[in-house]
Amino acid sequence: MADKRDYYEVLDVDKSASEKDLKNAFRSLARKYHPDRSTADDAEEKFKEIQEAYAVLSDSQKRGQYDRFGHQGAGGNPFGGFGGSGGFNINLEDLFGGDIFSSMFGGGRQRRNKRRGNDILVRHTIDLEMVLNGSSEEIELDLPSPCQACEGTGAEDGDTTQCSPCGGQGRMRVRQQMGPFIQDVVKECRECSGIGEIAKSRCSDCKGSGKEFRAETIRFDIPLGVEHETRMRMRGKGEPAPNGKGEAGDLFVEIEVQEHPWFERQNSDLIMSLPVGFTDLMLGATIKIPHIDGDDLVIKIPSNSSAGHTITIRNRGLPNSRGVGRGEVVILLKLHVPKKLNKATKKALEQLREALSPADIEARIRADAEDRRTN
Ligand SMILES: [Zn+2]
Ligand SMILES: [Zn+2]
Repeated sequence: MADKRDYYEVLDVDKSASEKDLKNAFRSLARKYHPDRSTADDAEEKFKEIQEAYAVLSDSQKRGQYDRFGHQGAGGNPFGGFGGSGGFNINLEDLFGGDIFSSMFGGGRQRRNKRRGNDILVRHTIDLEMVLNGSSEEIELDLPSPCQACEGTGAEDGDTTQCSPCGGQGRMRVRQQMGPFIQDVVKECRECSGIGEIAKSRCSDCKGSGKEFRAETIRFDIPLGVEHETRMRMRGKGEPAPNGKGEAGDLFVEIEVQEHPWFERQNSDLIMSLPVGFTDLMLGATIKIPHIDGDDLVIKIPSNSSAGHTITIRNRGLPNSRGVGRGEVVILLKLHVPKKLNKATKKALEQLREALSPADIEARIRADAEDRRTN
């Protein structure tokens, strides 16, 4: 860890960089060096360096520590340091939206089960109508599969040889400084990525990655009432195992439910606010608006309503998660005050002023306070 580069330098930002600057810098560098995209020899190493820098600088507490103490990040934790042993958990999904990426790190699973391929996560956006009605979806994805030429080994003609740095073990014992301590830790061999074998020469078709991308059609059903950020797992559709030996990872499709222009969702209920005129509140009114189920929503405002009252329409919300019935639509009444009035309306309102606003302001305040106490 002695010759670690400065995190700001790694991300090519200056010390005053904002959260957004950091995110942008990370995003473009991660794209450039993502091992699935880049064929540079040091892409994976670069990528890890970028991840680590971003993981620390995007966490305000860690960034503060780093600014003060540098890489050792002393602070209160004797094992401090940022390099640590574990992965850095950055939510790449958040940063890359719909892009396909492999979950390269936070790699607990990878460490436990060496030969399993990485999982892949894609996002799929649907609207509220689909939450209501369900839907059968079909999406086209470029998914990695084992390179046919080398059967996923990454080696030309499948020719591999024992990795010499680790003697075929895939692991190496490394002496590491952790804060004030020196520890011997067992690490994955960098040369062979823990496989124990390396290619005699790289497969020219896949440039040694062992993978090729092929368009595949993925079909799945949107369950009724699906929640935002539900993940659906498709076994074995993820990245092939390293060197083509072992189980492929899984593909996760995360359902993203688009925001509706006026409905807010609360489980199976839909909440909206409805701006209505003062006379509608006073005299009552029936208002029709189009609804996601195709039938108009008929909202009956009783006379003498107040802004802040709610009207509940049963069984017009989203399907209940138990699959039986639908939630409610809850309508919050709001007073709509027109920004401009024409002369005639203004005059008419002037005439109503006295009727609607009793002169005795104190009596009005008392009555209102009394109302609130009794309700
Ligand atoms: Zn090795
Ligand atoms: Zn190949």
